[in-house]
Amino acid sequence: MFLRSIFTSSPFPVYSKPIITLFLTNRRRFPHLFSPYATVKPQMDAGDASEDTLRGILAEKQASVDLQADIVRKLKAEAAAPVDIEAAIESLKALKMEVSAVAKHLQAIVSSSAGVSGDREAFRQVVVNTLERRLFYIPSFKIYRGVAGLYDYGPPGCAIKSNVLAFWRQHFVLEENMLEVDCPCVTPEVVLKASGHVEKFTDLMVKDEKTGSCYRADHLLKDFCKEKLEKDSTLSSVKVAELKHVLAVLDDLSAEELGAKLKEYDITAPDTKSPLSDPYPFNLMFQTSIGPSGLSPGYMRPETAQGIFVNFKDLYYYNGNRLPFAAAQIGQAFRNEISPRQGLLRVREFTLAEIEHFVDPEDKSHPKFVDVADIEFLMFPRELQMTGESAKPMVIGEAVRKGTVNNETLGYFIGRVYLFLTRLGIDKERLRFRQHLPNEMAHYAADCWDAEIECSYGWIECVGIADRSAYDLRAHTDKSGVPLVAHEKYPEPREVEKLVITPSKKELGLAFKGNQKMVVEALEALNHAEALEIKAALESKGEVEFEVCTLGKSVIIKKNMVSISIEKKKEHQRVFTPSVIEPSFGIGRIIYCLFEHSFYTRPSKSEDEQLNVFRFPPLVAPIKCTVFPLIKSQQFDEVAKVIARSLRSAGISHIIDITGTSIGKRYARTDEIGVPFAITVDSTSSVTIRERDSKEQIRVRIDEVASVVKEVTDGQSTWADIMWRFPTHSASHVDE
Ligand code: AMP
Repeated sequence: MFLRSIFTSSPFPVYSKPIITLFLTNRRRFPHLFSPYATVKPQMDAGDASEDTLRGILAEKQASVDLQADIVRKLKAEAAAPVDIEAAIESLKALKMEVSAVAKHLQAIVSSSAGVSGDREAFRQVVVNTLERRLFYIPSFKIYRGVAGLYDYGPPGCAIKSNVLAFWRQHFVLEENMLEVDCPCVTPEVVLKASGHVEKFTDLMVKDEKTGSCYRADHLLKDFCKEKLEKDSTLSSVKVAELKHVLAVLDDLSAEELGAKLKEYDITAPDTKSPLSDPYPFNLMFQTSIGPSGLSPGYMRPETAQGIFVNFKDLYYYNGNRLPFAAAQIGQAFRNEISPRQGLLRVREFTLAEIEHFVDPEDKSHPKFVDVADIEFLMFPRELQMTGESAKPMVIGEAVRKGTVNNETLGYFIGRVYLFLTRLGIDKERLRFRQHLPNEMAHYAADCWDAEIECSYGWIECVGIADRSAYDLRAHTDKSGVPLVAHEKYPEPREVEKLVITPSKKELGLAFKGNQKMVVEALEALNHAEALEIKAALESKGEVEFEVCTLGKSVIIKKNMVSISIEKKKEHQRVFTPSVIEPSFGIGRIIYCLFEHSFYTRPSKSEDEQLNVFRFPPLVAPIKCTVFPLIKSQQFDEVAKVIARSLRSAGISHIIDITGTSIGKRYARTDEIGVPFAITVDSTSSVTIRERDSKEQIRVRIDEVASVVKEVTDGQSTWADIMWRFPTHSASHVDE
């Protein structure tokens, strides 16, 4: 019909020809778009069209629809033969269906890259329901309707958290002989003033001008761009590129730039659609006062790092005055987030595990870098982000050699973080290391990378790994007056030239009265070159014009007001402020991503329901095994107790389930909290051990059970190794 309307009967061959050309061209290039499944299940294999290509096709197809609609209108207006009108309408319908197929496909692609697809939300809902129902976590103060951004861990959640932290201690603290400390959460103001938190630990907030509700400005802009990209299939390629660029540089925008973008896109308050205020900084720290007088202000610490910095002098001494060394701390951090969302990912109190690795700024090599140098994983340097490309697999040794990563120690920790996360069970395909953009990074930092894990909310920063240079120790040195420095003893004393600037306070006082102090400070702060220039001018002209920034003007310095000389001195040691490399782990975020990466469903035996499973590795599983007597029998209960006793003395966490429910139901119950092994007591001499994911079973003597489970949960053997050694249990106790 379609062909006939164009080639035989259509009075408008001029319009019709391009339509069919376009149709054929696209069908050939993108056959899957025309498959009957295209509207149901988009094909996402490597040969797929990119988002940009799809947007191009969509625009072309929409133009074809418009043209064909014109044809129909004209045919009707000219009272053409009904058969021709009908044929043209059929063609129009076919074209509209194609537009809809392409639009859906495009939406699926955009959604999956933006992390907001319906599938992802549905998946998250199942995971979260399971987690809450099985008490992995509980909204805090639930009976009082809870408080946004505060969560409790329930029994399996606590066990997982404690396993993650135990592995963290083993993988980092033990491996590197780190010095662990445990400092208070309540912190006096002076410490956080020195660190810059009182002044700068802010997020940009906007207020609903009518209701006063508060929102994070960057979140509103991000949501707007994502929604546009996902839902508006008519966007031009220029607009798409613009929105994507905004998303890429979001963390880089100043308050003014953010405000301008919110205005440009007409973004209003999400709940009321009222206008928004300009963005302004909101400090995220919870303020308190220490003691009853109210005169000693303090804050709940927003990070654990400051406790380590202020202890640097003692820790350095404890370490035999040697560098490099690292200190570590695990503890609660508090941030009064403007709009907590995304469940456990953005909360107001959370556990941080932080490492401060102190190193000589002139030598950031790491003796164990070779151990990680060959590991390859997804890295996302800033150049790729700025040009809109994706993360690429890179070998960390190469990345350091090429200067993509600033130094070996930073590279070493990036590699170690990769090993830590993947051994916990994070999927390596959904883990990438993203470099901070220039403005995102603090001005003093040498380089920063975030370990980001992809979950149903998109890519989430879970570990920040930053080379913070000497900033923190210098800041606390200046504020406290206690030098937080390291020393390098020279084998032989060295003769060095020292610049000595001695301002004459008397002469400067007479000349500048109340401004004397500022002139003295400015003179003392001169660097080598500036001082030599002034010395030369004073010697040749007797006076020099000298700008004092703190006064905002220049003054005339005369020869009798300052003495500048170069003196030779013997130095026995180099005194310097160490640089610090800081990996900072958000434990709650890692655990939540682990929940999602470990979760899957499988059909029940009767295939009438989906059973939930968490495939936690034994290392993190909340309980390592369950013990089930197959049937209610005193003899079997006794055997179960004997096994439980041997598991207890081997330090293996376990539970006995003596309920009378079917064995299949009991398996399903333990799979749902991720217990890797189930021991079924079906005789008085031997039992079966079932592995959660394969559902394979082996038969083991009762006195061997604890040692077998220990071997496989400690990671000394894999389940495959164990399968070789023990007879499989063919008449398996069956699953639900
Ligand atoms: P930052 O000091 O901001 O780099 O944060 C260090 C780590 O703490 C991040 O990598 C996150 O994993 C985690 N984190 C930061 N803010 C929150 C929050 N509001 N809720 C949970 N985890 C957080």
